[in-house]
Amino acid sequence: MTTIKDNLETIRTGINDSCDKAGRDCKEVTLIAVSKFKPIEDLKAAYEAGVRDFGENRVQELVEKFDLMPSDTRFHMIGHLQKNKVKYLIGKAVLIHSVDNLELAKTIQKESLKAGVVTDVLIEVNIAGEETKFGCTKETAVSLAREISKLPNVRVKGLMTIAPYVENSEDNRQHFVALKQLGIDIDNQNIDNVSMEIFSMGMTCDYKVAVEEGATMVRVGTAIFGERNTNL
Ligand SMILES: *Cc1c(COP(=O)(O)O)cnc(C)c1O
Repeated sequence: MTTIKDNLETIRTGINDSCDKAGRDCKEVTLIAVSKFKPIEDLKAAYEAGVRDFGENRVQELVEKFDLMPSDTRFHMIGHLQKNKVKYLIGKAVLIHSVDNLELAKTIQKESLKAGVVTDVLIEVNIAGEETKFGCTKETAVSLAREISKLPNVRVKGLMTIAPYVENSEDNRQHFVALKQLGIDIDNQNIDNVSMEIFSMGMTCDYKVAVEEGATMVRVGTAIFGERNTNL
């Protein structure tokens, strides 16, 4: 069995190779270790091996782990988010990747104002138009960015997508290209307070292709920590 440290080395090598292939600087790419459902010991092992960015998809789990990790650990909220849970995340999640409707953004605004902070978010786009997935459509992403730009305590930093689960990562290349292009289109509109510097795309099955197509954050769980005992 390989260790978390070994797995991380393999993935970092994969990211570097993809950067070389695409002529990108590998410093542009942040590896987010997706630690959902994994025990704190696993997070600490990854931390020891240099990981500072962790992804969680449930608010309660993120908040619990936040308190147990060193203070320079950064937690990313990558899962579907309910409005009534937002208040627990503010000041703890460094970035909320899963904003896909205005009501949620308005709640983030309200809670961020209360806490006196500005919260960075990504707009989650259902780029392949899968029925089972959260995320706004490509078409509504632009208007959502426009509306969120009016909220002073919420800052749009880019786009996130969860591509389809595929055996062959090449099948998702088109979706990564499409997300990147959407980001360029939104950027060209020069919306105040909105930047398109972050592209959160690519998981265990397809992170290399995502990096080749411009990902600045990849969210990798299984390839680091092994299989999870859940389908969530
Ligand atoms: C679980 C999860 C991941 C990681 O998936 P793996 O296939 O285990 O790498 C990435 N992004 C999101 C939003 C997730 O929920």
